[in-house]
Amino acid sequence: MLKPGSTIGILGGGQLGRMLALAAARLGLHCHIYSPEKDSGAFEVVRASTCAPYDDETALARFAASVDVITYEFENIPAKTAAFLAKRKPVFPDPRVLELTQDRLVEKNFIDGLKIAVAPYAPVHSASQLAAGIEKVGLPAVLKTTTMGYDGKGQTKIKKGDDANAAWRSLKNKPCVLEGFVNFEREVSVIAARSADGHVECFEVTENEHRDHILKISTVPAKVSPQLATEAKRVATRIAKALDYVGVLGVEMFVVKDKGKQAVLVNEIAPRVHNSGHWTIDGASVSQFEQHIRAVAGWPLAKPLRFGRKVEMTNLIGAEIHDVDHWLTVPGVSVHLYGKTEARAGRKMGHVTRVYPK
Ligand code: AMP
Repeated sequence: MLKPGSTIGILGGGQLGRMLALAAARLGLHCHIYSPEKDSGAFEVVRASTCAPYDDETALARFAASVDVITYEFENIPAKTAAFLAKRKPVFPDPRVLELTQDRLVEKNFIDGLKIAVAPYAPVHSASQLAAGIEKVGLPAVLKTTTMGYDGKGQTKIKKGDDANAAWRSLKNKPCVLEGFVNFEREVSVIAARSADGHVECFEVTENEHRDHILKISTVPAKVSPQLATEAKRVATRIAKALDYVGVLGVEMFVVKDKGKQAVLVNEIAPRVHNSGHWTIDGASVSQFEQHIRAVAGWPLAKPLRFGRKVEMTNLIGAEIHDVDHWLTVPGVSVHLYGKTEARAGRKMGHVTRVYPK
């Protein structure tokens, strides 16, 4: 168990790192952010920071020497970087988890291996595999690159009559996974925290609405049956256990109707705090960021309680940052801005959370 005054090293300097550092500060812990990007928003809120590439071993060694434990806010940390650091300081979650979640196919095989339902899928490394995949999963389908895809990047839909090979070419013929298109009723996620001693605490199931493949609104409670909510949490808990996970992870799921009853299919695992858990900062007695810091610091997890009858988190994306003047005046709304200067299209600039009183 880290003592107050200890330092947590965080790889990645975006808004997730920034919110982790703010949560750590509340608990009397320091953070050292390591990020290759000069304008990392997390640098502003920490005592120590390193701006260096992920393959700079001198900088990595110095970073490791200055912290007590290391975590990350970004899953595409090179495996070599994580291995280098893990030789010097404890890294949570274990770098093995990064390798697994950096490749969609490896991740899907893992979830499927746990007998947890996923959309039908097939690997695509060649034109013949693409044809066989279409045969197996049917159309419409979604073709996704196995690596580096996020917010809808690196994926394309294939409908009946489309030229599937052209779709694959649009993804530069990279290794892909072909997934059957899920006619989902809604999308939900479970944010789960697991401590080093194996205790798991899940936040309430969150309902997520995407716009242009980017999360727009998260709402709690989700419109799901109590049975479905229990099942969704059981699935997330099972994944966390199977990974021997320490920290917070987000599990994105599709809710489908199966013989008139709701059922879940896992879409994706995020081995980090997750955008759909931002509501917990203002809408619950403990935030996902604090839970993650508690877990990696070896502290006990808190039991999260929701405030209000409903909590709604809205992302401010790109030019929506200019709506902030409006949001600042809405009763019950908390405003979070990430300190990014350039409001590029599709960029997450901040979020607002509205807690509806009981
Ligand atoms: P992903 O990058 O896999 O998280 O996908 C981003 C979003 O695309 C999801 O949140 C869904 O809204 C949509 N999507 C992804 N895969 C599928 C699928 N197999 N069927 C239907 N919609 C999908």
